Amino acid sequence: MAPTSGETKAAPKRIGTGSGNNTYKDKQKPSDIRQSNIVAAKAIADAIRTSLGPRGMDKMIQDGKGEVTITNDGATILKQMNVIHPAAKMLVELSKAQDIEAGDGTTSVVVLAGSLLEAAEKLMAKGLHPSAIADGFRAAARKATEILRNELAIPLNIEDRSVVTKCAATSLNSKVVSQQSSLLAPIAVNAVYQVSNFKDRNSCDLRDIKVVTVLGGTVEDTEMIEGLLLTQKVCAGPKKMEKAKIALIQFCISPPKTDMDMNVIVSDYAQMDRVLREERNYILNIVKQIKASGCNVILIQKSILRDAVSDLALHFLEKLKILTVRDVEREEIEFVCKTLNCRPIASLDHFTAENLSTADLVEEINCSGSRLVKVTGITNPGRTVSIMVRGSNKLVLNEAERSLHDALCVVRCLVKERAVIAGGGAPEIALSIKLNQYGSGLKGVDSYCFRSFAEALEVIPLTLAENSGMSAINTVTELRKLHAEGQKSAGLNVKKGAIANIMDDNVIQPLLVTLSVINLATETVASILKIDDIVNSVR
Ligand code: ADP
Ligand code: MG
Repeated sequence: MAPTSGETKAAPKRIGTGSGNNTYKDKQKPSDIRQSNIVAAKAIADAIRTSLGPRGMDKMIQDGKGEVTITNDGATILKQMNVIHPAAKMLVELSKAQDIEAGDGTTSVVVLAGSLLEAAEKLMAKGLHPSAIADGFRAAARKATEILRNELAIPLNIEDRSVVTKCAATSLNSKVVSQQSSLLAPIAVNAVYQVSNFKDRNSCDLRDIKVVTVLGGTVEDTEMIEGLLLTQKVCAGPKKMEKAKIALIQFCISPPKTDMDMNVIVSDYAQMDRVLREERNYILNIVKQIKASGCNVILIQKSILRDAVSDLALHFLEKLKILTVRDVEREEIEFVCKTLNCRPIASLDHFTAENLSTADLVEEINCSGSRLVKVTGITNPGRTVSIMVRGSNKLVLNEAERSLHDALCVVRCLVKERAVIAGGGAPEIALSIKLNQYGSGLKGVDSYCFRSFAEALEVIPLTLAENSGMSAINTVTELRKLHAEGQKSAGLNVKKGAIANIMDDNVIQPLLVTLSVINLATETVASILKIDDIVNSVR
């Protein structure tokens, strides 16, 4: 390898007398930039390292407006951080990418990237070229993927709910709401199972699971609702309707507006009376037609142009005993249609009996002061579910929602890729040993890179041990010894504070999460290494 070749090309200009000093400066800049990038990115990784694992700490984040968030989720912490350095921003993006790809492992991915950068720094100090290191790391990640898939993964029968529930519980165990993991894990599993079709691996769309947060009660009161839950309240008509015939409308029940702004001056009472009578007839006509179709529950989409439903209309709807819910958000429409298996009605002409959907019961429920509308017993329901998350204060409630999202993502990962691996640092140690062995058989730069990569992977068990107050070095060396003796599932049980057979202790996680952690972290590190200049554009 010729460590200078890339840099000579990158050296922009050699002005002046051509003294050695000038050339030296040109070469120095790329490495300074690289150094600064690595330092910035490592600072990010160090900042969230303490949050890894069940004994990890939580962060309290305060934004400019004084709003406070308490969280343990890597992606959330980084999203809220005010990061300025461009290389540090790459790690924020990395965590976001992991969140999209797998949903869990957002802390691990950043911690691993930090560790890989540190390894790269050491290799560069030895004189290896950054591009060669990037390539070496990529090769090591490919090999790691192969080992994970072929040797460490345990195939999963997706029908076996108990294993899937354990995976969801592992993910919840490292959250603020870990105490409630035995309640939330089955809810996550049931919800994902309800909306997916196991024949199709990509069938799980989390948009089909509506998570509603309701302040009040405790996280223990969280429940899954088979049917529809609307956050709006009943604004007219009875609060409860059995044998409901539901219409979802997108038109307004209020006097029409002209396209132009104009004023009509009414000068005498007779004219005034006529205007009012017209309005009354117009609205009465709409409401009567609604009643005539047999409809007794009406959901009205929010309108930005005018009032979706006027006071007069509400009065008529009340009199005709039609349960009315207004202000259904535009984004909610798709979900509501899918759940009720109906089409939104865009004009009065289409308001016919066949466009209505039926349900056994629609009622307004009262949850610690919040009023919600619940629809149950839908005839021919779509594949959707609603989950009502409860919490005694806003901070816990929001964190519970984020944690539940992680658990849902874990189950989705298992539907996509039906294999699990052990948790608690076991796969990282196993990979590290195998990559080290493999690297020893290689020649040249790759050999160095493989071994450094292998060492960098140990950061996960190391950090887990550190965060739980165990002796990091002793734990990792002990783990390495056990794995060398062939105990594949020896890992760190942070809860017990000891090394144990991690599979027996039910700490398992989806293969997809770890695969994505390794691959995404490697990609980001490789791209950071290949940057040799930061150019500020002038606008
Ligand atoms: P992330 O945001 O990366 O998911 P977490 O804080 O959820 O971070 O920590 C995940 C790590 O904690 C994984 O490596 C997982 O194997 C490990 N882990 C989870 N539960 C346990 C446990 N009971 N004992 C040891 N390690 C655990
Ligand atoms: Mg997690």
